[in-house]
Amino acid sequence: MTTPPAGLPETIQHFIGGRFVDSVSGETFDVLEPTTNSTYIQCASGDAADVDAAAAAAKQAFEEGPWPRMLPRERARILYRVADEVEKMNERLAAIESFDSGLPIRQASGQAMRAAENFRFFADLIVAIEDNAFKMPGRQINFVNRKPKGVAGLITPWNTPFMQESWKLAPAMASGCTVILKPAEFTPTSAYLWGEIMDRAGVPAGVFNMVHGFGETAGDALVKHPDVRVISFTGETTTGQTIYANCAPHMKTMSMELGGKSPAVVFEDADFEAALDSTLFGVFSLNGERCTASSRILVQRSIYDRFVEAYVARAKKIRVGAPSDPTTELAALVHSSHYEKVMEYIEIGKTEATLAAGGGRPDQLPEGNYVEATVFVDVPRTARIFQEEIFGPVVAITPFEDEAEALELANDVKYGLAAYVWTNDIRRAINFSQSIESGMVWINSHNVRDLRTPFGGVKGSGLGQEGGYRSLEVYSDQQAIHVTLGDVHTTRFGATGYSENDPGLAGPGA
Ligand code: NAD
Repeated sequence: MTTPPAGLPETIQHFIGGRFVDSVSGETFDVLEPTTNSTYIQCASGDAADVDAAAAAAKQAFEEGPWPRMLPRERARILYRVADEVEKMNERLAAIESFDSGLPIRQASGQAMRAAENFRFFADLIVAIEDNAFKMPGRQINFVNRKPKGVAGLITPWNTPFMQESWKLAPAMASGCTVILKPAEFTPTSAYLWGEIMDRAGVPAGVFNMVHGFGETAGDALVKHPDVRVISFTGETTTGQTIYANCAPHMKTMSMELGGKSPAVVFEDADFEAALDSTLFGVFSLNGERCTASSRILVQRSIYDRFVEAYVARAKKIRVGAPSDPTTELAALVHSSHYEKVMEYIEIGKTEATLAAGGGRPDQLPEGNYVEATVFVDVPRTARIFQEEIFGPVVAITPFEDEAEALELANDVKYGLAAYVWTNDIRRAINFSQSIESGMVWINSHNVRDLRTPFGGVKGSGLGQEGGYRSLEVYSDQQAIHVTLGDVHTTRFGATGYSENDPGLAGPGA
């Protein structure tokens, strides 16, 4: 086993009511590092009893504590301090994240900056946001009273875990909710930093709580807890379906960011080199463990052979190596079970299409979850490697004749998260993008986020959209308050003699 980053606690604990604590049961589980699959730390394994304790702390902080009652500016100041503390952790976080999840160190660094930016963004937003008022001069004014929903349950995946956690924590806390975070069991280590960060930033006890553990125990208990009013989930579509069903009896608010099989569509008039760079980066960065990965590349027939040749040559040169090596471009997949799943898909792909690069473990790396950058070409749309999310460094390339066929291929999957369109014809770029069934489209660009825009998927890729003010709406109720300004006109039930001026049942509509 390689040496873990210095300064880690012996056991990763829960954080409940402002304190690090063990599980009520005392249970822990093994956390493995992906280059040797050996255990390097223990993590508290939560269940319903720990979720009960966290829910009690969060509920008390919501009902009796200052957090939901603060002026937006006061809360924003604390969130800014959270951002500052996160930023100070940059190097430490990168080292932990890279060691724990197998991300190449160069790609892990900068995650703290992105996480900090999420807190600053939502802090700014709650100060600037305005709510609607609707006026009927002299008669009535109706306005929106935005209120935090209460206790929010946040369930996150193992890919770029700390950044994903910040993407939920920041809007939930900014809205005035108190929270219970359930980090992914494959990658719990960096989440322990949140306890320290929240404490140093002066977040009141009970506002931020965290319960570690498996999805089927800790996650399930959180989803089913009656005091948790909203569940924000990011993970696999099948898990999302289970959570959706489990939220139904409680009528909980849900936000779901799920899987993807996003197309990159390269037309013959595209900037060839830019499309090449971007489509390589889009699927092989972050070890291919990226929800918005361009895992299907659709290329116009007239440039197909040239594109495939150039793509395969570059993919063969992608440097696979240790996560800690700054020259590594593709490192170890998060967990041996995920590695096996990706390898299975590669074997399936060999029976469905032509393998043009990679296809297995690199010879020089006999242990750990390493997979070569793998390229399948001439992939038919019926292939499982075309249809199903692999979530690893595996890409399917397919030719198309014209725009109509490109659109059919792009939309012919159950997912609809992201899409990338490469063309220099502005009219085609926009019309084509608007016809794609996906929550997000990037034209002549890889995935460059703007925190103000909607983020989320359609079809099997998600429910509800976050991003900008939409994220705040997940965690807020919008109460309509109606106020009569003039005389009260009510149809006088039980009174003698209706007058001709009675408003009837309609009332004074807009
Ligand atoms: P996963 O669904 O296996 O697990 C996600 C989280 O859900 C984990 O914390 C897990 O413990 C928990 N969980 C599992 N079963 C549960 C249950 N029954 N009840 C409550 N919680 C439960 O997903 P993963 O393998 O960790 O992450 C990879 C997936 O996440 C991929 O499909 C990827 O596309 C998706 N993802 C989507 C986005 C997006 O924004 N759309 C972003 C990142 C990842």
